[in-house]
Amino acid sequence: MNNSALVLARHQLQQLQSDHLLRTLRVAKTATAAHQTFGDKAYRAFCSNDYLGLANDALINAALIEGVQQYGSGSGASHWVSGHSQAHEHLQSRLARFQSEYIPECTSLLFSTGFAANLSVITALSQLSAPGEVSLYSANLNHASIIDGVRLAQKMFDVKLTRFDTNALEALKAQLANDSRPLKIIITDAVFSMDGHIAPLAELLDLATQFDALLMVDDAHGFGVLGDKGHGVLSSLKLHSDRWVYVGTLGKAAGVSGAFVCAQKSLTQWISQKARPHIYSTASPPALAHALCASLDLIEGERGQQKRRHLSHLISLFKQKAVFEHFQLMPSDTPIQPLILGSNEVALSVSKALDDLGFMVPAIRPPTVPLNTARLRITLCAEHDETDVLALVQTLRDIESTLFGKSA
Ligand SMILES: *Cc1c(COP(=O)(O)O)cnc(C)c1O
Repeated sequence: MNNSALVLARHQLQQLQSDHLLRTLRVAKTATAAHQTFGDKAYRAFCSNDYLGLANDALINAALIEGVQQYGSGSGASHWVSGHSQAHEHLQSRLARFQSEYIPECTSLLFSTGFAANLSVITALSQLSAPGEVSLYSANLNHASIIDGVRLAQKMFDVKLTRFDTNALEALKAQLANDSRPLKIIITDAVFSMDGHIAPLAELLDLATQFDALLMVDDAHGFGVLGDKGHGVLSSLKLHSDRWVYVGTLGKAAGVSGAFVCAQKSLTQWISQKARPHIYSTASPPALAHALCASLDLIEGERGQQKRRHLSHLISLFKQKAVFEHFQLMPSDTPIQPLILGSNEVALSVSKALDDLGFMVPAIRPPTVPLNTARLRITLCAEHDETDVLALVQTLRDIESTLFGKSA
């Protein structure tokens, strides 16, 4: 008997291959770093989200080992059964304190990944009111995990979805004004992951307040990076409200793994009661929570501040130098510095040429980004130095003149 699933899988994979959409893995043998070897080849890497260089920090590594000695390797069960340790509890209260200046009566809840956090928070909040009574407003550049959370809420709870453009808030305002559903939730990334710019959160908070909505913000790329103490986007913009539902991730700037939500305590408590990925999933290892407490100390402290100062120096240096004739830097003040190359063909040849010369920078093509805006997603981190940044700019300049010919 033929196994039709195998026949279909082979056929679909071939299709991906011929559409140049088949993803391929690189296998790293060592810790993530600004200078990293893949296979036999050394690279300067501009692709990691480890913005502060904490993923291989000696203090956090030591705390992880200490955590294993105290709690072992696994948690054994979900949070609600017996998997919730003292380390998780301590981490949750530390995370709540990071946002407590901006969210009254703030508490936090942990998740194993940011993807699970977004699915959880969106579906749980969508059950605050009866099916058919909730409207979700989702920014058009939002992360895949938000998009999927919204789709799930549409299927399960009959929420109404409106996508909005953060550059056209008048349109959003008109839609909110005409919306008679009892509960409205606006959802946006804080820092857009493929663009690097920050959402207009002050204006969105005004709208949320005017139309009695919640404002859910995913600060995956701002937590640890933005604000004097690395507390994230709310502290950098100094925006207070009990309407915030703040999601942060712990595998990017915090250097470990996991995610959390912070909100006024009745919202957090509701999410903990309703979020299926929280209820029916094994708690992440307590040792990770223990290591994350060390990471939060570091983020808030003097070393964290030094790292953020160095990073913002590198961002300014890069923006000042990265002026090209055919490539266009997007307006961004964050460590995400996308360079628009235009066609897929140019994007692929630039990315390939960079790879040949020992620079690892991912090319991002449609449908991940709009047509004709294929780009390099360059990320800077505190482990880079000026030489790395200048070498990248010079190499891009050389590639540009090879591709387009020298200009005067
Ligand atoms: C990376 C990312 C996530 C997912 O977080 P993980 O912890 O990696 O699952 C969610 N939202 C945004 C905006 C992200 O960039």
